[in-house]
Amino acid sequence: MQQYAQIIINFATTAEIDRIFTYRIDDALREKVQVGHRVKVPFGAYNKLQIGYVIAIMNRVEQTQYEIKSIEAVVDEEPLLIAAQLDIARFLVSYYGTSFAASINVMTPPGLTDRPFEKHLDVVEYIVLAEDPDKVRAYLLEHAHKKTFAKQKHLIEYLLSRKQIALKEVETSKEMSMSSVKTLLQNGFITKFKQEKRTEKDDIARDAFKSLNPEQLSANNKIVNALHANKYKTILLQGITGSGKTEVFLYAIKEVIESGGSAIVLVPEIALTKQTLERFQERFGNHVALSHSRMTPKERQNLYIKAQKGEISIIIGPRSAVFMPFKNLKLIVIDEEHEPSYKSESMPKYHAVDVAQMRMLSEKGVVLLASATPSIETYYKSQTGEYDKVVLNHRTGAAVLPEVTTVDMRQELSQGNNNVVSRTLYEAIRDTLKQNKQVMILINRRGHSTFINCRSCGHVIKCSHCDVSMTYHLSSKSLECHYCGKKQEIPDKCPSCDSKYIRFFGSGTEKVEEYLDQHFHEYGIGRMDLDTTTGKNGHSKILTAFGNKEINLLIGTQMIAKGHDFKDVALVGIISADMSLYMQDFRSNERTFQLLTQAMGRAGRADTKGQVIIQTYNPDHIVLERIKNNQQQLFYEQEIKNRQLMGYPPFTHLFTVLITGKDEKEVINTAHTLTQYYRHYSQKGKAVFRVIGPSTAVIGKLVDEYRWRIIILSEDRDKLLIYGRYCLEKFNAVRAADSIKIQWDINPLNMM
Ligand code: ADP
Ligand code: ZN
Ligand code: ZN
Repeated sequence: MQQYAQIIINFATTAEIDRIFTYRIDDALREKVQVGHRVKVPFGAYNKLQIGYVIAIMNRVEQTQYEIKSIEAVVDEEPLLIAAQLDIARFLVSYYGTSFAASINVMTPPGLTDRPFEKHLDVVEYIVLAEDPDKVRAYLLEHAHKKTFAKQKHLIEYLLSRKQIALKEVETSKEMSMSSVKTLLQNGFITKFKQEKRTEKDDIARDAFKSLNPEQLSANNKIVNALHANKYKTILLQGITGSGKTEVFLYAIKEVIESGGSAIVLVPEIALTKQTLERFQERFGNHVALSHSRMTPKERQNLYIKAQKGEISIIIGPRSAVFMPFKNLKLIVIDEEHEPSYKSESMPKYHAVDVAQMRMLSEKGVVLLASATPSIETYYKSQTGEYDKVVLNHRTGAAVLPEVTTVDMRQELSQGNNNVVSRTLYEAIRDTLKQNKQVMILINRRGHSTFINCRSCGHVIKCSHCDVSMTYHLSSKSLECHYCGKKQEIPDKCPSCDSKYIRFFGSGTEKVEEYLDQHFHEYGIGRMDLDTTTGKNGHSKILTAFGNKEINLLIGTQMIAKGHDFKDVALVGIISADMSLYMQDFRSNERTFQLLTQAMGRAGRADTKGQVIIQTYNPDHIVLERIKNNQQQLFYEQEIKNRQLMGYPPFTHLFTVLITGKDEKEVINTAHTLTQYYRHYSQKGKAVFRVIGPSTAVIGKLVDEYRWRIIILSEDRDKLLIYGRYCLEKFNAVRAADSIKIQWDINPLNMM
């Protein structure tokens, strides 16, 4: 019987190529070709060889008017993709309207060539003694009195007692040195050899698990029962920072590993630190691997193969780790599930929570969503019963909730204090530092002054490429656009009226640092924002210094609010809580609530009673009320009611269209014409679609491109996706191919 394969061409970028092609499998390849394989196929008019993925194998095909070509060769020994990944690719195509090729590309490691993809063995270089131990001891005795011999001595003693050591370990050790290795090699006392790193799995360190408190126990029971039920389930694990959520999901992972399954743990990129890994390794040893954005393509490829071969069974990683080729995957944990970074903003525009749920649906496993501040959508689904919910209400140990105070900055100003820091916060910082405790100050903008204008004519200095005001950076003494990166010198005159009176307004991290440094320099001050963390170890350097108490006052953007556990932090100050409240986004209340709650979680872990001071120009704002009075549940209930009233998610779904181009008029025209299409079709039959716009996007101009948007809302996600794309196709079919770009997204988390 003849066999055929359905194939996706891997470079397919245009709609024409992004479809399924049929190829014949010749007898010679019959035994070799499997679903998931990469194959070489002749493609296009010139039959150039391209790489394709086999997504299905069939015994017959429909009659076609084209000649069916044959697969030329199989690339890899074993299929690169597993069946579950192909299912997910199909899901991404149908649920997000993304391209097949993009879906497959996001699952496969980068840097693949058309040569076979092999595992690079983890080879480690070791050293061992090459001489008779007695002779070595004699050498030791002979030189032991010399001061310069200490490092050699240490290495020899180590080798005498433990036989071998990895060179890498010597390199990082304080007691040993590479130069002593060199000397000992030259003298013939030691020798080097290479060996593949062992692959037997470590035992799970049961002793490393804490004994759970009653709340954790009951959460654990529920989760374990769900795991044993062998049915798909999503569970929300809601608990304030420090309530022991991580401990609970570590137990769940243990359960999965012990019954031979594997687990994926998604954490926000910023929390992918050595400390996170250590907490897992301590218990699961070499079952665990970390995936992060700084890995080389080769490291990624290795990790991929290890997961596929079952050499590891737990991966901790950012959103893309949800695609890892684990077989027998039984649990996906998504920590800080409300984080917008779980939604991809580029092709394929997927949400990791949706993908996780699809995967567990077909594997009959559990999705565990952990958060102190779940997204409104998740919370709502846990209320309606679509998700199960377990709650941890108490901080572990002696830790208690911090005390929250708000400071009205309008009063502060009217009483003559125009500093960025209020007197209340200033005094609290002083007292906290004096007591040998630490302080974190959160400010949501980097740079020094975020707004520069002319006193004479009111002109605001904006980026010449974007519709955003330039930010003054003290460290580089220049103005910078935070959207396109453009830098320029500070003008000494107003570009509009030549007046010399240019004023700097608005505060960023640098200004706060400058002010606090004048008063608290001797305590050690650190700043953590995009500007100070770009180097490879930028983050960990600052955090280590804070952990060691070389720095006691840490100023930063929201990156300091997330996930770091420092036991001596007794005060968290929030410089301006209003900034995220007024963004043009129906999620701004939710985001502000989450950010403030998270920042509060930094104060007073372990046995330190914490204090939180929030500066605001709007102390009566509902979000601040709820935060101050610890009314989390009420906040959620009210916010859900608002969303229902306004017809926003979770009660509806959003389809957004972004129209961009260099010619403003053309952009506006296109936006209006396209909107007419949407309105026209929304009135056909039952009007289930609400069309909002067109209007300028939140940022109206970015890198010389004007931006307009249309928003369409509907209760029916499937129909919305079809309708959204249908109108666009209709429109694209008649519009001249011009310089206008149109992008769309379904349920974006970022309102552009
Ligand atoms: P969360 O993930 O909710 O922020 P963690 O799981 O990180 O909380 O727990 C906070 C701290 O409490 C950690 O240092 C953790 O080791 C400790 N902890 C958690 N559960 C227990 C327990 N049952 N007994 C003792 N310490 C615990
Ligand atoms: Zn001017
Ligand atoms: Zn710009």
